Amino acid sequence: MKFRWICFLPILLFSCVPSKRAMQNDSTTEKRFAENIVIAHRGAWKHTHTPENSIASLKAAIAGGYYGSETDVHMTADGQIVVNHDPTYHKKDIQTSTLEELRTIPLANGEPLPLLGQFLKEITTQHRTRLILEIKSSTRGKEWATKTVRKVVEEVKRYHAQPYIVYISFDYAMCLEVLRLQPDAEVQYLNGDKSPQEVSAAGLSGIDYNLSVFKRNPQYFADSRNLGIRTNAWTVNDSTLVDWLIENKVDFITTNEPEMVLRRTSR
Ligand code: MG
Repeated sequence: MKFRWICFLPILLFSCVPSKRAMQNDSTTEKRFAENIVIAHRGAWKHTHTPENSIASLKAAIAGGYYGSETDVHMTADGQIVVNHDPTYHKKDIQTSTLEELRTIPLANGEPLPLLGQFLKEITTQHRTRLILEIKSSTRGKEWATKTVRKVVEEVKRYHAQPYIVYISFDYAMCLEVLRLQPDAEVQYLNGDKSPQEVSAAGLSGIDYNLSVFKRNPQYFADSRNLGIRTNAWTVNDSTLVDWLIENKVDFITTNEPEMVLRRTSR
């Protein structure tokens, strides 16, 4: 009998040690995201005939294997973070309407107006695609903007989604507030009016600028590389412009044509 137990002992001990894979899955820092430069703008909606900024378009971006799926969020009057591009939803001002008031009309595919929490739940089911999370500027002043950032970062932490998120905003103060609340966050600035040097000195991780800014300042590519920050250009849907960005070694292209950009990067 004793001999049998000795035989089983190594098996028992081994089964108590978590495997390397399990340890990696538990880690919040060792995700292996897709190694391409494609960010689907508002999800991969165009060729999948799904609504922009819907769960369906997010799932399509994940299925496409893109590095990122971009999305936009606002805070409702009752403090819920909802996903929508415009500050209004079916003519209702999001920041002065409750979630219940907004959800009386679904998206075109029948989904209720999505909450950020639903997006975070979906994105954390996989390890390839990140959520490029645009916190929209406030129409209700600085205090509202600060509260919105706090709520968004709280939601991200609640879902343990920190490694999946790249925060972006046109509002520089909002970018800095994200960093104050989550110092290790990746944050890219959208508005195009700051040099890579300024953005880097502030602790941000990249510039996510309109293509025209890079056309006027092509030195931004090399400057950013030298500073160790990322370059991301929006919203680029033309193949010639995509090729120009690839030649200049841009880090990311935000596009409504993720299928086309992926094809061109893998030629
Ligand atoms: Mg956006």
